[in-house]
Amino acid sequence: MTARIIDGKALSNTIKEDVAQRVTALKEKGLTPGLAVVLVGEDPASSVYVRNKAAACEKAGLHSEVIRLKADITETALLDVVLDLNANPRIHGILVQLPLPAHLDAAKVIETIAAEKDVDGFHISNAGLLMTGQPLFRPCTPYGIMKLLESQDVALRGAEAVVVGASNIVGKPMAMLLLAAGATVTICNSKTRDLPAQTRRADVLVVATGRPEMITGDMVKPGAVVIDVGINRLPDGRLTGDVEFASASQVASAITPVPGGVGPMTIAMLLVNTLEAAERSAGLRV
Ligand code: NDP
Repeated sequence: MTARIIDGKALSNTIKEDVAQRVTALKEKGLTPGLAVVLVGEDPASSVYVRNKAAACEKAGLHSEVIRLKADITETALLDVVLDLNANPRIHGILVQLPLPAHLDAAKVIETIAAEKDVDGFHISNAGLLMTGQPLFRPCTPYGIMKLLESQDVALRGAEAVVVGASNIVGKPMAMLLLAAGATVTICNSKTRDLPAQTRRADVLVVATGRPEMITGDMVKPGAVVIDVGINRLPDGRLTGDVEFASASQVASAITPVPGGVGPMTIAMLLVNTLEAAERSAGLRV
């Protein structure tokens, strides 16, 4: 079997075009959605992500501001920047690019973002709303994956879904969204005793570990849908996922490529969340 390639680039373009149309309509009502991205330090990968996010905003007609801060900024000064953005009426979404330098408490910074502007969906109150089935903002990467699954008509009700990785930004919210869609969900982490036994049960397998190509074809159930969240730069400069594409694509029925799968969807959903935050601020959405 050779798996169908799930084209995240194409779907993300469709979503971004839809956002652009909705932004135009909102601008006609006098409201321009605005996103602020806060970048602390000069981590090269983070700088690329931030640039891509700002470019996507501009293309879709949103207002965007990138706030670049020195790596040695004090926590108090960073919290002040966030508080200013909370009070800024032109800004509807605030994103603090992670990871932060070690002297800064990321949890504290995220808790300082106004929950109604937390377009990443990482604030504790947004995590709680998601957990209790009343999401305000769905974290962008898992939200994008749900859109990819929807686009492929993947039946989730009653399906066995296995999520490898349990981070607050990908694995855990992914599991919540799959559960809400009716899947039977298993979450694996680095202590999971027999990982292949878990992954081989999965009708839908989502992998977000940051371990290059750790999931091989023999760990995939024939016919499964495989979603590879990983973005890993190999020593030879190649970009690869957490799934070994060559072997897994021989077993799966559908699979996301890296790049061109989950990555572009993350940015598209950030635009959706920012647009919806703006609509909500104007009472156009509950
Ligand atoms: P984290 O490092 O925060 O979490 C990794 C998770 O994977 C942890 O729960 C860890 O377990 C688990 N894990 C690590 N090794 C193994 C293993 N051998 N077996 C089973 N589980 C394991 O990573 P993130 O969730 O932030 O990111 C994961 C990957 O996704 C990275 O490659 C990252 O670059 C990528 N990413 C891609 C995005 C996109 O837009 N495409 C967005 C965000 C991330 P434990 O809890 O026990 O430590």
